[in-house]
Amino acid sequence: MSTYAGRLLRVDLTTRAVTIEQIPEQTKRDFVGGRGFGIRYLFDELKPGIDPLGPENKLILLTGVLAGTSAQGFSKWMAMTKSPLTGCVGRSVGGGNFGAALKFAGFDLVIVEGRSETPVYVHAQSDGVRVLDARDLWGLDTERTQQVLRSVHGANAQIACIGPAGEKLVRYATITHGRRTASRCGVGTVMGAKNLKAVAVNAAGQITPDDPIAFQRAVQTQVKMLKTHPRRVKMTTSGTTSLVEVADRLGCFPTRNFQAGRFEGIEAFLPAHFAGMKTRNFGCYSCMTRCGQVHVVAEGQYAGAFSEGPEYETIWAFGGQVGNADLGAVIAAEAACDLLGLDTISTGNCIGFACELFEKGIINTREADDLDLSWGNHPAFLKLVQKIADREGFGTLLGEGVKRAAERIGRGAHRYAMHAKGLELPAYEPRAIKGYGLSYATSNIGGSHMYGRPRQEIYGTPDPRPVDRLADEGKGDIIALVQKQQAAEEVIVTCTFGNSGLSADLLRDLLISATGNRELGDAARLEQVGERIVCLERAFNVREGLDRKDDTLPQRMLTEPLQNAGSATGEVIRKLDSMLDEYYNALGYTHDGIPSRGKMLELGMLDVANEIAVGCLDEGRLQDASGSSGAVSGHAKERHSRQ
Ligand code: SF4
Repeated sequence: MSTYAGRLLRVDLTTRAVTIEQIPEQTKRDFVGGRGFGIRYLFDELKPGIDPLGPENKLILLTGVLAGTSAQGFSKWMAMTKSPLTGCVGRSVGGGNFGAALKFAGFDLVIVEGRSETPVYVHAQSDGVRVLDARDLWGLDTERTQQVLRSVHGANAQIACIGPAGEKLVRYATITHGRRTASRCGVGTVMGAKNLKAVAVNAAGQITPDDPIAFQRAVQTQVKMLKTHPRRVKMTTSGTTSLVEVADRLGCFPTRNFQAGRFEGIEAFLPAHFAGMKTRNFGCYSCMTRCGQVHVVAEGQYAGAFSEGPEYETIWAFGGQVGNADLGAVIAAEAACDLLGLDTISTGNCIGFACELFEKGIINTREADDLDLSWGNHPAFLKLVQKIADREGFGTLLGEGVKRAAERIGRGAHRYAMHAKGLELPAYEPRAIKGYGLSYATSNIGGSHMYGRPRQEIYGTPDPRPVDRLADEGKGDIIALVQKQQAAEEVIVTCTFGNSGLSADLLRDLLISATGNRELGDAARLEQVGERIVCLERAFNVREGLDRKDDTLPQRMLTEPLQNAGSATGEVIRKLDSMLDEYYNALGYTHDGIPSRGKMLELGMLDVANEIAVGCLDEGRLQDASGSSGAVSGHAKERHSRQ
């Protein structure tokens, strides 16, 4: 099997039809793989305005072109859909062996469409793909679901499933594989809405690179470099827990629902405290970094709880965000979320939101199901996690996400809802690293830390130039750049943590020897693919009615001085408007944040330009989007040939 399977699996749950299609050559050329394929198919196949929880929505599972090979840190997978939290394009990345298994089964992507009347799961193996009854699995947690499916399909079955939270349509449900999750944007909620409990894959195989000798040489170079690379060593030793110290130093560790930038209980979350709890490392397919840290709580009320983490984001979500300094409680909360199928970022954000409403007297104990939601009261938080997953009482409201919950509560609750476009904000305080704030605001999937990560602000990386993290302006081009770079990395579904020290030359050698496609070795071309993806994702959102007004942040970030944040104390994002202007200019968007026709033509997306122009003119949103009309071949919507 070559690195590109060149095929997609389409499963219609309404009709139970299973088809295998070739991926058009132009789609491969223009979008390469992974996230690129995902947005191309979502844009082409979803009608604007559809209900994300309706049968018209589609869920796409994707791998990258190096998945299943011996290249290190390239076998993660991705889920994309129209998000039930944001109504925008949604994407989330997962780890483990599932991405490699999809590739071994012969697919670069799987499109699930329609809706089954009863719970089902999809089983794919070399002799075919079947839609099978999952009524006995419905209600099981993610671990039990995988155990049962392995008992049916063998220990080697690789399974991605939902837990009770996805079944009950909590809007931020995960897709879980092992204990690894594609967490964000409610990708698991869309599975639940389709009555799809799991996708199980039995496939072993070997990927044959185009030039096996050159590929092996490139992998050996990568392995040799990784063995001693300090960042790889740090990730293997302590995973993302080391980010706690970085965030504390910068004053960007959001505390008590983003009221402050430093947490007085941070000491409990420093890497040394995890060392005594660590039992082993965990890694994804073909990754020697093995950043997963399995921790077991040794004593106290959460003794015995364990998780393949917690990652930095979860330490924040059930630590600083909710005013809790009990590490055992953080691990227990993560374990509960993993089993129930909840995104820890959104769950912790929602609980912190509820705590602040409680603190401000906007909700009382009775409204919170008799729970005392004082900061740090972790036993109550654990109960609330279960209520959210069960959609019980107050948990039903929080399961809608902070944006909808605030709208329903009223009484000024929206002032404490920390989200962008409806996606709960993650663990970086934007007033202390303002480019990150711009990236949250402009991200086409909402408040994600993985849409564009300004290393220039976090680590002081001087490439392409140094950046003052507290400056309000001069960030637009940097955020445009890191968003394009992130998108380019995600066509290969590169792991951010598993590729320490990967040079452009080494990536080029891996890609060319794996695929035989010399164009993939052109870094500038890959960056343009990244730009095309970001542009098409924005066009998807524009078609849904979004524009500049949606590129914003919670009022708190724009008006309330940040408390207790070291050198960032007192900071506010004062000039979001001019930051947006800079960002739009850098990407060739109009003043309203809509890709100009000229930019879309430059990126070879004539079909998209025409569709957006018609929609925007109808809605009066296209005042200055004329741009050039240079003749560039558009992305022809080739008919997808079905086998
Ligand atoms: S670094 Fe960690 S998350 Fe990334 S591929 Fe390796 S084990 Fe998976």
